[in-house]
Amino acid sequence: MPSDVSRDTSVDAIVIGGSYAGLAASLQLARARRRVLVIDAGEPRNRFAKASHGFLGQDGRSPSTITEDARAQLLAYPTVIWRDGRASGAEGSIDAFSVSTTDGEHYEGRRLVIATGVVDHLPEIPGLRQRWGKTVVHCPYCHGYEFAGGPLGVLATSPLALHQALLVPDWGRTTLFLNGSFTPDDEQKAMLRRRDVTIVPGAVAAISGDDDVTVQLGDGRTTTVAGLFVASRTAPASPLAAQLGCAFTEGMLGPLVTTDEIKATSVPGVFACGDAALAMTSVSLAVADGAMAGVAAHRSLVMAAAGHV
Ligand code: FAD
Ligand code: MG
Repeated sequence: MPSDVSRDTSVDAIVIGGSYAGLAASLQLARARRRVLVIDAGEPRNRFAKASHGFLGQDGRSPSTITEDARAQLLAYPTVIWRDGRASGAEGSIDAFSVSTTDGEHYEGRRLVIATGVVDHLPEIPGLRQRWGKTVVHCPYCHGYEFAGGPLGVLATSPLALHQALLVPDWGRTTLFLNGSFTPDDEQKAMLRRRDVTIVPGAVAAISGDDDVTVQLGDGRTTTVAGLFVASRTAPASPLAAQLGCAFTEGMLGPLVTTDEIKATSVPGVFACGDAALAMTSVSLAVADGAMAGVAAHRSLVMAAAGHV
């Protein structure tokens, strides 16, 4: 990286979040020969999982080796600056945004791409959190196949558990633990019956097990499954979009930055991509979303230079 670029704190675009979405956005900007600064706190959502599945050409690789390869390829472009750190403040408007970090750095950029992802909030059940990404997961497409035919569990966190419990039987015989979060009506019970789902009412008291998951109910009964699916509630991982005044949409699992089809937010010059702005989340979708945001941020710079408002 040439030193004149690395010392300059004013760039064409600042990409906040350097995981799948942010890396994909940055790659498009770098290939467009633009000066791009990536600020990344290094805590991707899937860091709890040993392997990432379902991303074409990378199936089964560890989440970090995928991003390490992508980052090495990105940093080969001379106009890219990388900063490990956490952005804590963003302000300004198109052509003049400024971003500050928790370690006191300030950067200026003409466009912003927010790719900071989400954080997962899980029910407060002893033993659950430490199994997240291992035997407790949220997405059957990501991890269902590895549970080798089940048996499987779904821990309800809301009425959306119906959808999950109807889906999961394709990966193994399924038990739905209601845990006071969902009361299926007669029609829903019939749908679950048709999918051979066992419904277990009552509160879940604790989760245990090493290679599998033992679900212990309040009355002491236990059921052991190979994997437990839990739809986490999600929240934006950074306050930046809110600070900038971006509009939010209430998604099924939590708030999302509102974007149009080219990933522009409601604030001119600010783009958002990946889990922060997607209802259906995966590495593949985050990469596609990031690529779109990167191209859109570039085109926005080009159109401004051409005098188009
Ligand atoms: P993230 O990957 O979450 O990256 C966001 C980045 O922004 C992080 O590096 C974070 O530290 C950084 N950041 C946040 N705030 C700031 C800030 N203020 N300043 C600077 N940087 C910041 N999907 C699959 O396709 N296959 C799988 O097998 C799979 N397994 C999963 C397992 C688990 C346990 C979980 C929870 C999710 C899994 N997913 C999987 C989903 C996948 O992790 C996400 O869809 C994907 O990570 C989204 O990419 P992203 O770039 O939008 O966000
Ligand atoms: Mg990212």
